[in-house]
Amino acid sequence: MAKSTSKAKSANETETRNAKEPVENPIVAHVSLTQNDVDETEISIEKKLVALYSLQQIDSQIDKIRIIRGELPLEVEDLEDEIIGLETRIDNYIQEIETLKVSVKEKENVIKDSHLQIKRYEEQQMNVRNNREYDSLSKEIEFQNLEIALAEKRIKEFTHQLNLKNEEITAAQKVLEERKNDLEIKQSELADIVSETEKEELSLQSRSEEFQRFIEERLLTAYKRIRKNARNGLAVVSVERDACGGCFSAIPPQRQLDIRMHKKIIVCEYCGRILVDHGLASSINQG
Ligand SMILES: [Zn+2]
Repeated sequence: MAKSTSKAKSANETETRNAKEPVENPIVAHVSLTQNDVDETEISIEKKLVALYSLQQIDSQIDKIRIIRGELPLEVEDLEDEIIGLETRIDNYIQEIETLKVSVKEKENVIKDSHLQIKRYEEQQMNVRNNREYDSLSKEIEFQNLEIALAEKRIKEFTHQLNLKNEEITAAQKVLEERKNDLEIKQSELADIVSETEKEELSLQSRSEEFQRFIEERLLTAYKRIRKNARNGLAVVSVERDACGGCFSAIPPQRQLDIRMHKKIIVCEYCGRILVDHGLASSINQG
């Protein structure tokens, strides 16, 4: 590699001067290379920039596929968990209802007993020998009536709770039905996406590898490192409105000119992403 660099170069400008690149490359078709006096080195850097930017577009598409596919299994899992939760809740309500029904039955028996007692006391009252005995039985009857009233109050409360539980079951069952429907849809979506994207991802993957062949090892390693560290996976960005398309920091006019010259690979001073000019980017995006 012939390095004819001046020491004045900024540290974050990656100098790449390598003319030993494959001559024919289908990707340069998008870039205008009309100047007759174009230097071999310039073509080479331009090719690399085109390859890098194209690689970025492809890798971003792969990222997108992985993100979409990455979220669906989680959504399916969440739905499955929610369904289990709802079914457990409904089971619990059913058990609570059974307990309440038993309680109602118990109180009904109390009432029945009390009525029997009252009947017995009333019969006894027919045969009392004095007022004291009569009053004593009256008190017993009064007590049993209180028992009945209390039991009736409890039955009312239990019935109220029972109705509430039934309402809750109905509501939970409605949600459960909806979630089961959602799950069915998500599961088939997931199956579709997996089979669909597997093919697409493989073809993108092989295109990514194709472009990688036009980029030297050192640059490719840098690309992968920047991509890994960038939250959105963008290692190569275009200059948009005088700013870095990755971190939106302003780029001085002279630097923008250098980027447009395609004489060296220039990275953003702030985020370290590789910069390409808007013209080159849009020619690739349209192509
Ligand atoms: Zn930046």
